[in-house]
Parts: sequence; C-alpha cells; structure tokens
Amino acid sequence: MDIPNTPGRRAVVFDMEWNQPLPWKQYPHVPKSLMPGEIIQIGAVMLDAAGKSMGEFSISVRPKYFRQVHWKVKKLTHISEADMLDGVPFPEAVQRFGEWCRTGGGDFDMFAWGGEDERVLCGNLEAWGLDPAWVPRQIYDLRLIFDSFRGRTETSTSLTDAAAALGCDLDLEQHDSLNDARYAAAVCAATDIRRGVEEYEELGPGPALSGGEQRRYETGFAEPGDGLYHPRLCSCVCPVCGEALRCRAWVPQNKDRQIAVLKCSRGHGAFLRVRFSRRPNGLYSALRLVYGLTEEAESFYQKKLQKQQESLRRLKKLKEKAKAARQGEPEAKGGPGETQES
Ligand SMILES: [Zn+2]
Repeated sequence: MDIPNTPGRRAVVFDMEWNQPLPWKQYPHVPKSLMPGEIIQIGAVMLDAAGKSMGEFSISVRPKYFRQVHWKVKKLTHISEADMLDGVPFPEAVQRFGEWCRTGGGDFDMFAWGGEDERVLCGNLEAWGLDPAWVPRQIYDLRLIFDSFRGRTETSTSLTDAAAALGCDLDLEQHDSLNDARYAAAVCAATDIRRGVEEYEELGPGPALSGGEQRRYETGFAEPGDGLYHPRLCSCVCPVCGEALRCRAWVPQNKDRQIAVLKCSRGHGAFLRVRFSRRPNGLYSALRLVYGLTEEAESFYQKKLQKQQESLRRLKKLKEKAKAARQGEPEAKGGPGETQES
C-alpha cells in the first residue's frame, strides 16, 4: 500500500458497498443522511498522471445501525453478518481511507462509477459528524464521462461492459469494492479523464430539478436553434400562479440542452429546459419541460449565462480584429484625413 512520491495529479478510483435498511423495520435513531445506506466496504485504486496503478486500498466496515444484511445486499455482494462484524468502525475506516488518498502528496481527483458513491460517502460522513474537508468538492462520475465520450445520452453502460469495450481484459468477481474499483480504474486508465474533468460541467446533468411539467414536444426543425423561439416552446405559464410568460433568452447548458430562467410579475420563478435530439430523418425534435425555480437551479443558470456572455464578448473582439486587419490599419490610429494625405 506504499505510495511513492510522484509529481502530477493522481486519480483515486474508488467503489463502496453499503448495507440498506430492512423495509419492515423501524429505525428511529438512524440519522437521516444514512438512510440510503451504511457503508460496509471501501475499495480503491490509485493511478498516477499516466494512468499507471500506484497502489490499492481495501477495508471492511462494521455497521452501527444496519447490522442485519439486507437480502439484496447479501445476494449481490455475498457479505454475511459475520463478515461485517470483522470490519472496523466507520470513523476509523474512513480516516484510513482519507490518509491513504493523501499519501504521495499533491492534489488528487476522485472518480467513482455512477453518482451514488458520492451521495453515500457524504451522507455517512455527515451521519457520523466527521469532517469531509479531505474529500474533493467534486467526485467525478466516470460513467457519465464514459457515456458522453461515446455519444450516449439516454442509456448508461454497466461497468463491465465499459471495461470490455475498452479492451480491458479482467476476470474478477463483481460487487466486491476492490474488484469494482479495479474495473473502474481500468476504464479510467483507458479514457482521457483529463478532458473528462475539464469538460465535466458540460457533460453533467445540471442542477437537480423536480416537478417538471408543461411538457411539450415539437419536431421538424432543421437546426436545434430554430426550435428555441417556436411559440409552443418559448411560451409557458408561471408554475406557481399561472401567469402567461414568454422566454426571450435561452442559454446553452451543453450541446443538446438549452435552459432559461423566467420570473413572473409576482416574482415567482420558472426554470425551462429544452432538449434537442436528431431524428433519423436528419431533422431535430425538441422536448421542453418547465420546473419550479430553486436556488441551485438559478445559480447554475447564472453561471451558464456569464459563460455565454464572456464567449460572445470574445467573439466580438475577434470579429473586430479581423475587420481591422482586412481594412489595413486600425481605424482608431488616425482620422480619415490623415490617411488621405499619405
Ligand atoms: Zn407567478
């Protein structure tokens, strides 16, 4: 488990197994953030900047609250109650894991297959009142990166299918944290994860939204942009009071989605999202949903809006520069009189 000191950004690829509450049982003293699951196993592989394995980590965790193995968990992982008793308490296990992540010095990124491990890890830390400061602000979902690089947006690939598609020939038993981490590390090593990290915000699904209504579907657009100001897509009603609204400023979320934030005269907010997809006939269809506006969704929109304005400004500058170059000397340098003289 010794990690040498190497320069460059390291990647911690991890996987966890967690036990779940039994549906018929009451859990009055269980912290809410633990309800999705109590961690019983952590496995991880560390990769150097070139994608080479630098070491592995594996630990069993003794649960405090869900001590009876849920039948689904048992079926999937073959972990028994006796196995769980052999584990160490979560605070100690996660402390060792955190220390292992930080050995070797410098920054590291964390990757997991799917978005669930992040939610469960943070929920377990919160339930125990442990400091999550060592966990990077963003745990990257490797499946999201893999699927978007492959041009998939709807279906998500299984970890073993992804590994096989990348030619990683592993024959390990699944649903063991360390083995799953090994599969994920193989996918990580064979993927341009630097690009995935840089473009992550574009790949990401955006803010969590609920209650999408006023579902509208239109089709037959030659270009995705043609649909944005189609009356059926840009007009909606306030989700709170029903006032008629019209959208005039869409902002791209990524290459298939456009978003907008609208306020009605009473100050209620609406979050609109349109997704374009190319049909087999070469034309585009659009699906629009309207959501209530949350703080998270509004700041997400503001960030995207700023980004769009910056790139428009850059584009304008470039155009001015190109125009000036075509006309020879920049106009600002001398009045038209001077140029006539020479
Ligand atoms: Zn309203």
